[in-house]
Amino acid sequence: MLNIRVEKTTNPKPIPGADNPLTFGTIFTDHMFAMNYETGKGWHDPRIIPYQAIELQPSAMVFHYGQEMFEGLKAYKADDGRTLLFRPDKNIERANNTNRRICIPEIPAEDFLQAIKAIVKMDEAWIPTKPGTSLYIRPFIIATDPFLGVRPSDTYLFLIILSPVGAYYPEGLDPVKIWIEDDYVRAVRGGVGEAKTGANYVASLKAQVKAHDEGYSQVLWLDGVERKYIEEVGAMNIFFKINGTVVTPKLNGSILPGVTRDSCIQLCRSWGLPVEERRVSAEELFEAAENGSLEECWGSGTAAVISPVGHLRCGEKVFQIADGGIGELSQKLYDTVTGIQLGKIEGPAGWVVEV
Ligand SMILES: *Cc1c(COP(=O)(O)O)cnc(C)c1O
Repeated sequence: MLNIRVEKTTNPKPIPGADNPLTFGTIFTDHMFAMNYETGKGWHDPRIIPYQAIELQPSAMVFHYGQEMFEGLKAYKADDGRTLLFRPDKNIERANNTNRRICIPEIPAEDFLQAIKAIVKMDEAWIPTKPGTSLYIRPFIIATDPFLGVRPSDTYLFLIILSPVGAYYPEGLDPVKIWIEDDYVRAVRGGVGEAKTGANYVASLKAQVKAHDEGYSQVLWLDGVERKYIEEVGAMNIFFKINGTVVTPKLNGSILPGVTRDSCIQLCRSWGLPVEERRVSAEELFEAAENGSLEECWGSGTAAVISPVGHLRCGEKVFQIADGGIGELSQKLYDTVTGIQLGKIEGPAGWVVEV
């Protein structure tokens, strides 16, 4: 149990109105959660303070060797006024898996959840209520030792910031165009691909810029060794419906284990659909697209929830998926997951946690 000190802002910002488009990740609430770590002392000084700039030494290790982790989850306002979190236990478990991988001290799960609940409660009035909007929660930890040498830091700063958000992609639920990258790679097995850490994103920028220049909104990564097998999209996992079967790449160490991915798999299975977690080659997809058995494709992630994919491009080859529109199953998953998140549909036990 954390003993959280609270310092309220004396200068509250205006809360965005219902007509604000809430461009993803641009507006931050009045407060943030902070907690420090020091070897020998452990995690200490948990506090809620006004949202503010942080001061770090230029030599702080995070700037040089990238020892940092992050998470992303959302809070929703139900019609009855309750504030709901979606499967926060999964994010917290993943956060500590990431921490272990990159030598950051773990945060006890119950303390982590308490911190999330406390900061969300504090800025609850910022949770937008228009359909498709929510309060994005971004916990992260950075290495703060002022030291230019490679080793795990002895001091860390854990922060949670909050941002009211609308659609992640300007397209909303409209199908996105995806670029299959066959030159650059994002992650390799044994690396940090299954950890939620900035390193994976910096590795992805170059291909993302290339894809954007060609008019594609996201990159679909192939495996880093053979560059043959589908792994995932920049910030989403990927699903295909081929001949009535739901297929998604098996978690292999270089794919981020998405909470939305796991939710899609569980829901599809509960509806009696066959789901296969296995290796999927780009070749298999092209064949399925050509012979008409590729019925649907969608990405899954907290930010966009479900993002239908209308086109895939690899090199000079361009494939339209079915009629290029929103697939039936993609729509059903979107409706069901968001329905559960908003407390309108009863999901599996424990998926929704009240703040
Ligand atoms: C966060 C993330 C996802 C999606 O995970 P969710 O838990 O569903 O939000 C997928 N891929 C990468 C690389 C990610 O960082």
